[in-house]
Amino acid sequence: MKYAIISDVHSNLEAFQAVLEDLSKEKVDQVFFLGDIVGYCADPNPCIEILQGLTTIVIAGNHDWATVGLTKTSYFNPLAKVAIEWTARKITQSHKEFLKTLPLIQTRNTITLVHAAPNQPEKWDYIFSLQEASLSFNYYDHQICFIGHSHRPIAFVEDEERRISILINTSFTLRDSHRYIINVGSVGQSRDGNPRAAYGIYNTDDVRFTLRRIPYNIERTQKKIMDAGLPPFLASRLASGR
Ligand code: ZN
Repeated sequence: MKYAIISDVHSNLEAFQAVLEDLSKEKVDQVFFLGDIVGYCADPNPCIEILQGLTTIVIAGNHDWATVGLTKTSYFNPLAKVAIEWTARKITQSHKEFLKTLPLIQTRNTITLVHAAPNQPEKWDYIFSLQEASLSFNYYDHQICFIGHSHRPIAFVEDEERRISILINTSFTLRDSHRYIINVGSVGQSRDGNPRAAYGIYNTDDVRFTLRRIPYNIERTQKKIMDAGLPPFLASRLASGR
């Protein structure tokens, strides 16, 4: 089986379409979506429609839930908040209903899928440090937990002695005796200094995870953000991937 794991599209239609093209070339069998289809960019409705046609395995992100009032926006930064309020005004009623149905966590074929951290996913904690990863490894049973949320690809591994480390390579072969927390990065608003869209492919035949980086038409996305009257920083940050 070849799985694609995608996350944090954030209403960026151009990035999403570029990833879809890559997906069809890669001939994946199944797509998992880890949350935040909306927020930040200007195309929430087309992105939700594409997602609905792509997969039924869709996890809730904090921006998805905030848009429909299921989670507080008090801890959001001011720009994120403006984009959430804009999105809530723009999306259709049926898309709002769709966002309300999304679960916080799911397990599929021994893979755990969650937007933020598997312990208390509703708190939307980030996993940046070894310590944070160490806590999270205790809160799911299977070998792999795929996450998004930080918009920064990273993989943590726990060995047979329960020692935890960060994998330096973004593509790697998984070992039977090890467990993994893999952040697949963001399709629509990269923050690791690389402006390309990011997503992951997990192939169970050769037990290999591959991080894909896909260029897209950033200028077009930026123009739509400006035309929509969204905060200009949400446009400018896309070019630097910060
Ligand atoms: Zn996000």
